[in-house]
Amino acid sequence: MAGAVRRGDRRALARAITLIESTRADHRATADALLEALLPHTGNSVRIGISGVPGVGKSTFIEAFGLHVIGLGHKVAVLAVDPSSQRTGGSILGDKTRMVDLSREPDAFIRPSPAGATLGGVARRTREAMLICEAAGFDVIVVETVGVGQSETAVADMVDLFMLLLLPAGGDELQGIKKGIVELADLVVVNKADGDLATTARHTVADYRHALALLRHGEWRVPVLSCSAVQKAGIDTVWTTIGEHRALTEANGQRASRRAEQARAWLWSEIRETLLDRFRAHPAVRAELPALEAGVTEGAVIPTAAARALLSRFLGDGA
Ligand code: GDP
Repeated sequence: MAGAVRRGDRRALARAITLIESTRADHRATADALLEALLPHTGNSVRIGISGVPGVGKSTFIEAFGLHVIGLGHKVAVLAVDPSSQRTGGSILGDKTRMVDLSREPDAFIRPSPAGATLGGVARRTREAMLICEAAGFDVIVVETVGVGQSETAVADMVDLFMLLLLPAGGDELQGIKKGIVELADLVVVNKADGDLATTARHTVADYRHALALLRHGEWRVPVLSCSAVQKAGIDTVWTTIGEHRALTEANGQRASRRAEQARAWLWSEIRETLLDRFRAHPAVRAELPALEAGVTEGAVIPTAAARALLSRFLGDGA
């Protein structure tokens, strides 16, 4: 399968991602072998995270952005991190029908968020999907997420550049942006700078430029831009700015050190997730968990004691 993925065979690419998303143990072994074979061919992309509140225009932007960079000769993969999505219910992000024109492009690949109970689980599969897309020759990877809890942090932790889309409106709270998210951004873009909203957009840009004047990530000063995804205006500047970020961080080693740190964090989250999966799947834990959980929620059992009891069953060592 590795050979077909590297040749850019789309069916192989889709199958490879389905394989890494599988929770079956035998699939996991095959997936690990595939990833190992592909690893030397990964890393050669611009990894971009995009976040913003629902309705800010993420899918409209990503479509316009994707078409723009494809026009420049790039291949674009769009992945999504959305822990609220379920395979049955359909995801609110990364849905193909949201980016109709982009999904028709031979040089675009759009993949909805994998289903998963935990953010860690979803993020881990998205990281792996990113590597597979890189091996398949996609040199621009967009990871989309919506402002639900910790998902922005998870995405910022897997990309080279984290971009926040804003509405032409007042400050963070008025926009529904959670505290600390703006500080994660390497690039801030006010969307919908068109028509009646153009003036408000200008004010919003000025306000955020003022507010973020001192925000730096290493030597990078966080720019505040505006665009209209609908009118496809300002998209080129966003892409040029991403190029400037790449040039600077490649030259000063920041990109390499960020990726190295991300790999280390990934290792630890992998250990955490795997341990938790095994823990939950352990027969004795499964048998005793419901009663202990009920006891804890009713206040009859102290959480520490319940955790210790379950862990000792799991470890089998009387811990
Ligand atoms: P998402 O929920 O963040 O993915 O947002 P969508 O891309 O679905 O856009 C939400 C709404 O905003 C849709 O009705 C879009 O047509 C509209 N929209 C998106 N971008 C722009 C823009 O640049 N200007 C204007 N005026 N509307 C936009």
